[in-house]
Amino acid sequence: MTFPPIREELRGIEPYGAPQLDVPVQLNVNENPYGPSPEAVADIAAAVAAAAATLNRYPDREFTALREGLAAYLNTSGGSDITPEMVWAANGSNEVMLQILQAFGGPGRTALSFAPTYSMYPEYARDAMTEWVVGHRAEDFSLDLDAARGLILEKQPSVVLLPSPNNPTGTALPPEAVSMLCEAAGDGIVVVDEAYGEFRRSGTPSALELLPKHRNLVVSRTMSKAFALAGARLGYLAADPAICDAIRVVRLPYHLSAVTQATASAALRHAPELLGNVAELRAERDRTVEWLREQGFVVADSDANFVLFGMFADRHAVWQGLLEHGVLIRETGPDGWLRVSIGTADEMTAFKDALTVVVKTEPMRDQT
Ligand SMILES: *Cc1c(COP(=O)(O)O)cnc(C)c1O
Repeated sequence: MTFPPIREELRGIEPYGAPQLDVPVQLNVNENPYGPSPEAVADIAAAVAAAAATLNRYPDREFTALREGLAAYLNTSGGSDITPEMVWAANGSNEVMLQILQAFGGPGRTALSFAPTYSMYPEYARDAMTEWVVGHRAEDFSLDLDAARGLILEKQPSVVLLPSPNNPTGTALPPEAVSMLCEAAGDGIVVVDEAYGEFRRSGTPSALELLPKHRNLVVSRTMSKAFALAGARLGYLAADPAICDAIRVVRLPYHLSAVTQATASAALRHAPELLGNVAELRAERDRTVEWLREQGFVVADSDANFVLFGMFADRHAVWQGLLEHGVLIRETGPDGWLRVSIGTADEMTAFKDALTVVVKTEPMRDQT
């Protein structure tokens, strides 16, 4: 055996992660560019100080107060009649989804999604020793529903991962599509990953409203994006209580620290402020899409706080050129495309100015 005796399938693999570079304009990991308000900071600090006084004790394993806060929030954000027993949380929705794979995947079982999509999904499957099957999205990044349904019926996955809005394309799924795929999955779990749910355009409903109709539906959310709390690491889901109970079997004891619980509960009390910039970010997103189209780029419709655009003959050169202007975006998605997160108006101006200069010397891809 070679040292260290890492699992065969992990050998030589680079750990996942976007470059963390210290540049003036950071538009690469879909964070909310606006920090918490001074009032929210003060309340979070006070809540953490109170929690600190009892850090000799393990935290509430069932994070009861936080589940109540999350359920109440979801009922203002597309859900109705969501109770605390229907809510589960962990250290980021990445951990929530890994727990789902640990509970419902495993050897001899299959997880399925449709590419291009979030690059972490196959990693959860690998880490939970679950077979990974990937279907493909249509040219415009929507789902071809007949093909999607057919693939689910054929592969009988125990977990289907459907991000809506999808990362990195920004594409949202209509509720009829979610319903159809929940039915096709039979007793398999269908996770609608709404990490960017709060940014959806008006008229795009949340899958939360489908929970009463499909007991195999899980809707995943996070405080990392619209909530402006990526540093706190808090993701959560809403689903049938039986699903939460199954996840409880695989979670590590006391997985949510007292500090995390206090922070997230305090942040929820400030939800209107923390989410206060979402309308502005959505408007900035729509303006960015419009501007990019005016410049002649191909741009995917976006319900999220980022935009996928292209198509470049050498996208890496464009990415690098922007970086040299102090603007960090993300080299992800199908070849030829780049993804930019929506920042403040000033940051978007810096992005547009830099892009205008960089593309003068960078050929576009021939699209005929
Ligand atoms: C950012 C993102 C998440 C959220 O991850 P956290 O672990 O909650 O920070 C989940 N799903 C997708 C598709 C994302 O892009």
